Amino acid sequence: MTKVIDGKAISLEIKNELKEKAAALKAAGVTVTLAVIQVGNNPASTVYVNNKKKGCEYIGIESASFELPEETTEKELLSLIDELNTREDINGILVQLPLPKHIDEDKVIKAIDPKKDVDGFHPQSVGALCIGQPGFVSCTPAGIIELLKRSGIDIAGKECVILGRSNIVGKPMSLLMLRENATVTVAHSKTANLKEVTSRADILIVAIGRPKMVTADYVKEGAVVIDVGINRDENNKLCGDVDYDDVAPKCSAITPVPGGVGPMTIAMLLNNCLASIELK
Ligand code: NDP
Repeated sequence: MTKVIDGKAISLEIKNELKEKAAALKAAGVTVTLAVIQVGNNPASTVYVNNKKKGCEYIGIESASFELPEETTEKELLSLIDELNTREDINGILVQLPLPKHIDEDKVIKAIDPKKDVDGFHPQSVGALCIGQPGFVSCTPAGIIELLKRSGIDIAGKECVILGRSNIVGKPMSLLMLRENATVTVAHSKTANLKEVTSRADILIVAIGRPKMVTADYVKEGAVVIDVGINRDENNKLCGDVDYDDVAPKCSAITPVPGGVGPMTIAMLLNNCLASIELK
């Protein structure tokens, strides 16, 4: 029987644990505040930002919202980040991506104080992860580790193939799986014999942004398959990078889309917000 990994239930479990931690901090007189910056009004970004603010409310921490117009200059955004970096009452800074084209995202990410970098995108956070030092870990990969652990899936010693090498998912995912003692292969668009490579995986993590590309012939019998993709299919229905109906019967466990990896990202962001108190 294939186990369907329920990201909604696991993320709720984590948020309830965080709620208790937040209450304990509050009782000790510590207020935690996440600054959420959105530039422009990309509808998808507005949904993400609102969900993040709702998440803060749910666990009982504060969010401070900065909704800036599309024509905000890079200089104005950088000066807001500077101000938030120095404010004692702000613990985490989140800049919703993508930013309008006239703003350099790399510059913005680097401007955030690594001690407030709750998205874990700052080069210092990524470097710390690489050499095993404390720092924020990018939320989606961190959420996948929680999904695996809380589903009772052993990682140590397993062959893990990560399909996709982006800075926000594939690369940090590979470092985290290495930290958990998996044997890690990272595959991408230039990988030769892709199906042969992915078929070696005990744990296959797919983050490519290609609707339903991964079919049963990419997957080893009994593998665990984690689908990070969020796409729309030909009927405008949400779907992953994995062809769920084709792959599910062949694997031992799989994440659905929606309801798999997606809900974990916000739970881990909230986790990072509370962790910011310790890093401080
Ligand atoms: P990127 O576009 O940044 O990276 C895609 C990666 O997939 C690249 O490394 C690319 O290879 C590789 N790739 C693309 N096509 C192929 C192919 N045909 N065969 C093999 N490799 C391929 O994507 P992201 O990592 O940002 O996102 C991936 C997916 O995950 C998207 O659907 C996105 O919406 C979703 N996502 C979901 C999140 C969640 O919370 N659930 C969070 C973040 C992303 P190369 O480097 O060679 O170009």
